[in-house]
Amino acid sequence: MASKEPCSVVHWFRKGLRLHDNPALLACLKPIDGSASDELPILRPVYIIDPWLTKNIKCGHNRRRFFLQTLQDLDCSLRKLGSRLYVARGDPELVFGILFTKWNVKRITWEEDTEPYSKERDARISILAAERGIEFETRISHTLYNPESIVAHNLGSVPLTMQKLTSVVQSIGHPAKTVEAPNCLENFLPQSLDDAEYNLPTSEELDIDESQCGPCLYPGGENEALRRLDDKVCFEKAKWVREFEKPQTSPNSLEPSTTVLSPYLKYGCLSARTFYWRLIDVYSGAKHSKPPVSLMAQLYWREFFYTAGSQIKNFDKMKGNAICKQIPWDNNPTMLEAWANAKTGYPFIDAIMTQLRTEGWIHHLARHSVACFLTRGDLWQSWEKGKEVFEELLLDADWSLNAANWMWLSASSFFRQYFRVYSPIAFGKKTDPNGDYIRKYLPQLRKFPNEYIYEPWNAPFAVQKAAGCIVGTDYPKRIVEHSQVLKQNLGRMKRAYADNSKTENSNMESSPVPSKKQKSQD
Ligand code: FAD
Repeated sequence: MASKEPCSVVHWFRKGLRLHDNPALLACLKPIDGSASDELPILRPVYIIDPWLTKNIKCGHNRRRFFLQTLQDLDCSLRKLGSRLYVARGDPELVFGILFTKWNVKRITWEEDTEPYSKERDARISILAAERGIEFETRISHTLYNPESIVAHNLGSVPLTMQKLTSVVQSIGHPAKTVEAPNCLENFLPQSLDDAEYNLPTSEELDIDESQCGPCLYPGGENEALRRLDDKVCFEKAKWVREFEKPQTSPNSLEPSTTVLSPYLKYGCLSARTFYWRLIDVYSGAKHSKPPVSLMAQLYWREFFYTAGSQIKNFDKMKGNAICKQIPWDNNPTMLEAWANAKTGYPFIDAIMTQLRTEGWIHHLARHSVACFLTRGDLWQSWEKGKEVFEELLLDADWSLNAANWMWLSASSFFRQYFRVYSPIAFGKKTDPNGDYIRKYLPQLRKFPNEYIYEPWNAPFAVQKAAGCIVGTDYPKRIVEHSQVLKQNLGRMKRAYADNSKTENSNMESSPVPSKKQKSQD
């Protein structure tokens, strides 16, 4: 007689690529109702490489490498528990259509996701599971709170200012406590771990070209995420954590002046709640900075934009997006190319874009500077185009956070003080007067005297010659003249605001990061 196929339970990893604080994974590990005690299931932790995502999300070599490292780390942690990661390929509905039968699946769990494609995909999988009589359970753990409950506490409307969001979450109280990582899988049938069909992808499969990758400064994976959290948010650094004020951190320090936990939060290698509760520990009742500038507030910014992104239709677009001003941006591919490839002729901007392309992470105020430059400040190109470049190059590229911050910087939503423009010359000088950051990322300018490092076009020809770098030959001429285009762009913004005024949502932020000190630097 043929032996009966043992049953399985599936935890489907998508974001949330971790074992710690993973309530959906724990839900998967519960005993199956009504099953005989001698009928142990097999645990099948699954990741699906979905061609829709590969086709529709721009993902550069650095992030693909980070992602592969993350899967490798997760598989390694699961193997230590006697399990493994099963990596399947294909449309999730088709994949599960086969696996549900093949593995005799009784339960599937996953962490909820808020992006439009994910919601629609998950709805299809829930229907499929229900049709097959498979129990499915989901949990919310990518954000501190359930975005729906934030909206409910805000009387059914989406908070559209950080102040509002902060007051709402503070009225809710602390987010849920974190849950422990599983430490043994004794209630599961031991399994053969060498089924090659579900092996991890190789770098060839993910099309990672090492020659296109920069130095691996931020390796992927949960273990590295927890190590980094321990290193950055710890009692030894309590003073830094407690006194943290985002506008006082530097966009152009040679070592990051903020935590660089964003890539780990993006993939869920690190739980936002683990970060939150660590902060509570380190604050431990002592005096500390407050929202909107504190380190805790950075998690609130994330919550703010996740909540908005989960509720507002076409959040990542200008058209059809109810909170986004309709601005007649130019469409000049040459300008976009120059910006994206660090060829604007403004050393501060080009150094930031070089750091982004080679290392995959740049400071928040560096993001402000280049985003303002591309849009309302200088080049008058659409924020959607800039967002696409960030989507490709950032390790932390995140659907909600990227769109929200680009709307902010282009004064298309959330922020409306469009007359506060970053100078591509003066802003960087404040924190790095000698231009060490520029010298690091643009070595062709290394020998320029401090006086000209932010404005090499002003250097006399003899100085350029002595520095071994002639502007227009070895380094590009300025793509636009900031002081001239600024006047023109302010006029265009003024007109665009007037044209939008009838439909404008007046409920917008008036005082964002950065601080007052950073008014127009022109
Ligand atoms: P920290 O200052 O150490 O903050 C801790 C965490 O708080 C971050 O890891 C991040 O998860 C969250 N956080 C901090 N600032 C913000 C913010 N303004 N909005 C939302 N969450 C925040 N962040 C992304 O994670 N993904 C993106 O795709 C992204 N795109 C951006 C695009 C633009 C144009 C701008 C101006 C900002 C963007 N940000 C994005 C927000 C912010 O710049 C990064 O989260 C931050 O710089 C990450 O560095 P960190 O981890 O050292 O931050």
